[in-house]
Amino acid sequence: MTQLKTAIIKNKICALPFMHMHISGQAVNPCAPFGKPIGRITTTDPVTVWRNQDYRKLRKDWLDDTPPEPCTNCVENLNDYKKLQSLRFLNSGVLDGLNLEDLDPLYPRSLIFDGFDNYTDFAARTSSPFFDSKLHDLMSTNSTLRKFLPLGQFNLTDRSLPDDILDGLIPHLNTLSLPGCDAMTSPKIQILIAKLVNATNLKTLFLYSNLNNLNLNTLNTLSLLNNIPKKILTVFLDGDKNIHEYIFHGSKFDTFVDNLKTIKNNFPQLTLKFTTNITAYNIGRIKNILDTTLYLKQELNTHIGFNEIRPGPIPSFIHPATLPQSLKNLYLTDLNSIDLTPYTTIKYSGQLVSIAKNTLQQNSTAHFDDFLHYTLAFDSATDTSYQLLYPELMTYMTELLNRPEELPTIIHDSTTTNNLTSIDPNQPNFGYF
Ligand code: SF4
Repeated sequence: MTQLKTAIIKNKICALPFMHMHISGQAVNPCAPFGKPIGRITTTDPVTVWRNQDYRKLRKDWLDDTPPEPCTNCVENLNDYKKLQSLRFLNSGVLDGLNLEDLDPLYPRSLIFDGFDNYTDFAARTSSPFFDSKLHDLMSTNSTLRKFLPLGQFNLTDRSLPDDILDGLIPHLNTLSLPGCDAMTSPKIQILIAKLVNATNLKTLFLYSNLNNLNLNTLNTLSLLNNIPKKILTVFLDGDKNIHEYIFHGSKFDTFVDNLKTIKNNFPQLTLKFTTNITAYNIGRIKNILDTTLYLKQELNTHIGFNEIRPGPIPSFIHPATLPQSLKNLYLTDLNSIDLTPYTTIKYSGQLVSIAKNTLQQNSTAHFDDFLHYTLAFDSATDTSYQLLYPELMTYMTELLNRPEELPTIIHDSTTTNNLTSIDPNQPNFGYF
């Protein structure tokens, strides 16, 4: 008998096809970077997809040392999502006792479901209408903005999945993560939480919120789920008050802070963490993010740190790599001058800076015009302006306005990806959900 754990360590097999399922909208993948759906839950349930021929072939290919084409990027970049997530599985103990001969396991142990709901009470520039109902609404009435994101491709109505879609999986899950759902505003969340009461295998539940609103019912129920040892509420922090409110149009930073305090004071069973999307909108303000985190740490009087730091690839033209080289140089100089000493009590503050530097060293400047057009379109749709927040962008914007041209056709590619050079398994979840 060969232990799966041993095979993963010795042969550098990716653990995800054996353990993990990522449902995005209706598409099922072994992970976010895989890209190519391995099944769809429109036509079948997730358990059937998990056992389908393609999933089995993926596992077999890995065991035969012939990983499929979508895995090539991971294989070539040894310090990557595959390695990080595989190590997480190894460390979590969910692989213990599983033998290669037992493979083709009947259920995934870990699930990320970002199609659970899409109710948000702001319109995020760093999102797509696929994940953001308010942005979807905004785009429905603004034809210029609509040019930039694939509204037609993603119909939110199609994402309204039956409430029982997860029922077959829940009893078997060790980890459940719902990044495509604001736990504080989702009408579906209470139904889900009621189902989780009997999920005796579930050890970790990740919920997300922008904390623009607080649903105390949800928090009360959540804190009573004694069967789940780790309940993590991850909140989005992309900048100081001004940047935060600019990126998440419709959000209120003061409300966010008040709600953080309420959670900290009343629900000690919940772990609070931050997630930060590093984009062209905040790459030049990383020190502000650190200062804001320090301020929140003092206000909350608690340990706090980053759980997820990811270069925001959706839409791809807001990735920091899209900026012109002169701006990137300016931002790199700022990043290099950050003295991390005041932030040593903030977990992963150093990683925030190093990931920011890393993203600036990538090159995707061909998309910069799209970033500018998108920013102007978003500003126009929301009656906001980049000018006060990003004076360093003025020159480029002026150039753009002086050479009016056709708006670009929709650009929606995945060429700009997180491509880190060093990952520590003890670091937070970089790159993808
Ligand atoms: S190697 Fe990468 S793309 Fe392939 S299944 Fe693993 S994490 Fe996903």
